[in-house]
Amino acid sequence: MQILNDKHAVRDCVRQWQQQGLRVGLVPTMGNLHAGHMALVQAAVQQCDKVVTSIFVNPTQFAPDEDLARYPRTPQADLALLEAHGCDAVFMPSVDTMYPLGLDAATQIHVPALSTVLEGAHRPSHFDGMCTVVARLFLMVPADHAFFGQKDYQQLKIVQRMVHDLALPMVIESVPTEREADGLALSSRNTYLSMEERQKAPLLHQVLADVGAEIRMGAVDYRVLEQRAQERLQRAGFVPDYVAIRRRDDLRQPDENDTQELIILVAARLGTTRLIDNLLL
Ligand code: AMP
Repeated sequence: MQILNDKHAVRDCVRQWQQQGLRVGLVPTMGNLHAGHMALVQAAVQQCDKVVTSIFVNPTQFAPDEDLARYPRTPQADLALLEAHGCDAVFMPSVDTMYPLGLDAATQIHVPALSTVLEGAHRPSHFDGMCTVVARLFLMVPADHAFFGQKDYQQLKIVQRMVHDLALPMVIESVPTEREADGLALSSRNTYLSMEERQKAPLLHQVLADVGAEIRMGAVDYRVLEQRAQERLQRAGFVPDYVAIRRRDDLRQPDENDTQELIILVAARLGTTRLIDNLLL
């Protein structure tokens, strides 16, 4: 497995593979890798001939009051996991490599509408930072396919929109959410949870499953379902940002007669840890 820090080196490596007729997959991550990330790597190994994983904790997608400084960084363990899962190269750029003009002077990408609701309403600059780094990654690592998790569903939709709008030559693949046995979605931020919080955390998935069951049985009073789910989380000690029943395609609120496929999304704080999850119906 090659470890590359330089943008020219990783671009040359990908281009050489492509000249040999090989199909290249990219798995963008912020490191502290777990089985959720490995599901992306496995999908990439299955669908592509060569797989590049990027590890970069992107400062521009964290607000000043968020967890950039304490975000878990475990490069040695990450490399061992990637090697064991058949990854061919790891791109680990520095902040200077990703942002040669500095963070404030960087050219930014903004996807309107989709970026301002749900997560975007609670983390106003988050998706601009995410799009800005993902576009840079796509240019430095000109793979054929890029793999994203459904766990960050809004991120996936925004990346798809950006790729379509800018005609970026990258096919976006989505991979289902990996969960612990008790339903908690795997996340690097789960490591922040105390033992007591960890025991409570699966309620997030449970609430999604219960709202999903009600909708499947015909409930269409979506605002009431959202409100009740939030109250249930509050009673258990969560501070919910939202429980939202949305159309899968454009994340707009469905009306009672909507025939579009739906998704339920949740974001809530448990102590100092902010968790997100969703359920596709
Ligand atoms: P992150 O390192 O948190 O930025 O995540 C990198 C990629 O892994 C993103 O596409 C995430 O959606 C995906 N991912 C994170 N957690 C999971 C999970 N539990 N299951 C599937 N994909 C995940």
